[in-house]
Amino acid sequence: MLKIALPNKGRLSDEVRELFNDAGLEVRVRGERALTASLGGEFEAIFVRAQDIPEFVADGAADAGVTGWDLVCESGRELDMLMDLEFGRCRLVVAAREESGIQKLEDIQDGVRVASSFTRLTQEFFTKRGQSVKVVPVSGATEIAPHLGIADIIVDLTSTGSTLKMNGLREVGTIVQSSARLIARKGHVPDAAAQLDELRQALGSVLAARGKRYLMANVPRRVLPNVHEVLPGLNGPTVVEVQGGDFVAVHAVVPARNIYRTINSLKNLGCQGILVTRIERLMP
Ligand code: AMP
Repeated sequence: MLKIALPNKGRLSDEVRELFNDAGLEVRVRGERALTASLGGEFEAIFVRAQDIPEFVADGAADAGVTGWDLVCESGRELDMLMDLEFGRCRLVVAAREESGIQKLEDIQDGVRVASSFTRLTQEFFTKRGQSVKVVPVSGATEIAPHLGIADIIVDLTSTGSTLKMNGLREVGTIVQSSARLIARKGHVPDAAAQLDELRQALGSVLAARGKRYLMANVPRRVLPNVHEVLPGLNGPTVVEVQGGDFVAVHAVVPARNIYRTINSLKNLGCQGILVTRIERLMP
């Protein structure tokens, strides 16, 4: 049975569990505080810290894993990136104190001290740019380092930028754009490849369904051409005859973000019995 390493706590853990649950791979923990669990009887989950997952997968303790792309890059290990799971979006950025006079990366002078828990990526980034900085390793609360006088600038993760702003810091550059990813060991055996492909498709079908809704409506036959314009659907809407009437039933998969407009357009065309439901899985 393939082993998948999942974050045991922190920002990514709840969303990872929800995604696997929605894909029919429910996390069934055996006993309290267990480090392993069954994933729907198909895979075995092992729960570890998000930052350890790249190492676990690269070393073969797990066949695959889910963690942040920033942590995969920081590990420096060669891994296969199987899919972007689209949550846990954040950026690893360079930030300086607002009053420092540093407006852009070019303003950073040689010898500047950079506090970060991403020491490898920080060093690599500045070396590639030909800037010689001194990396100060910290393990948390990086944003206070410039105020404590232990660093001049920082490299830290942010999503909205509000924590940086609250701490009087200005973003001056981006090192990595990150989100949660499904990763696997490079060159896994063909048997594992087939199972991982199934897993990728299952998770992908849940992600595809999240942004879509299933819509049904009774449409007056004479306005059917107009409804085709409102509901392009996945492959065009399905039209079902309603016996002996002037109406046809139309079913379509529509983008969730347009649903407010779509319903109003259908109502204005004289459609009735409009029904919108969530979709659990979508495999085109
Ligand atoms: P943890 O430290 O276990 O909470 O997990 C942190 C991971 O969550 C990071 O490595 C990122 O991949 C991800 N993440 C998503 N948004 C943010 C954010 N705003 N700040 C820090 N980490 C984030």
